[in-house]
Amino acid sequence: MKVVRTRAELREALGAAPRPVGLVPTMGWLHQGHRELIRRARSDNATTVVTIFVNPRQFNEAADYTKYPRNEERDLAMCSDEGVDLVFAPGVEEIYPPGFDTAVSVGAVARPLEGAARPGHFDGVATVVAVLFNLVGAERAYFGQKDAQQVMVIRQMACDLAIGTDVLACPTVREPDGLALSSRNVHLSPAERSTAPVLHRALLAARRRWESGERSGDALRDAMWQVLTAEPLARPDYVSVADGSTLAELERVDGPALLSLAVRFGSTRLIDNEPLGAPASGTDRRERV
Ligand code: AMP
Repeated sequence: MKVVRTRAELREALGAAPRPVGLVPTMGWLHQGHRELIRRARSDNATTVVTIFVNPRQFNEAADYTKYPRNEERDLAMCSDEGVDLVFAPGVEEIYPPGFDTAVSVGAVARPLEGAARPGHFDGVATVVAVLFNLVGAERAYFGQKDAQQVMVIRQMACDLAIGTDVLACPTVREPDGLALSSRNVHLSPAERSTAPVLHRALLAARRRWESGERSGDALRDAMWQVLTAEPLARPDYVSVADGSTLAELERVDGPALLSLAVRFGSTRLIDNEPLGAPASGTDRRERV
């Protein structure tokens, strides 16, 4: 496994790399969710590239950026263990050199939910992913369904900017108690950790209502809300029942939809989602430019 730090080293290493190339962008502190993306990339491609970059532009709170967990040594060991060919782990100035003065801003699909709750977040995501897509020139890139809106934002960006990288979404990896794996879980206190599966329980409560025929958006939002508010440590940020392709809030669920929610435990904010009907952000759908 090769580890490179600069754009020039990356370009050189990629020049000799067998095609197709699969890219897995990450912010490090790798866990089983990242491993599954890497495995999928390896099985689909001749070369697997992982990027490790804690992107300051996607953090709307400075404290969240500072305390984001980092352990490059462990991350590199995990990548090597998974058979990754190339890791790009740049410093901030390598991605945003002095004079960098462009932001990529995606429209409607980036506005609700995480876009509304975290101003500037998706501009930061779309900008860094556009840079990474252009630097790596991969045939395919792999993202987690756990960040369903992010997948939709990146697909829109890649399509509109005519970037020829297929954006693939992989299923959410969970702990046995249902909590979606996340680098941020490390910040939960023991009491918060034992409460955190409430996100998944709330989603499943709404899914069960939907499976038994409930189609009212309000009733499904209420089902999630009731489960969340029964837990004193959980402070819900939003619950949503949205259209699977536009993310507009639904009065009635008549087609593919996305249940999603964001919940704070102390200073830690967790998100999760559950697609209803056909996968909202295309668990296995490929979109060509
Ligand atoms: P992050 O390092 O948190 O920016 O995540 C890098 C990629 O891993 C993103 O595409 C995430 O959606 C994905 N990811 C994070 N957690 C999970 C999970 N529990 N299951 C599947 N993918 C995940």
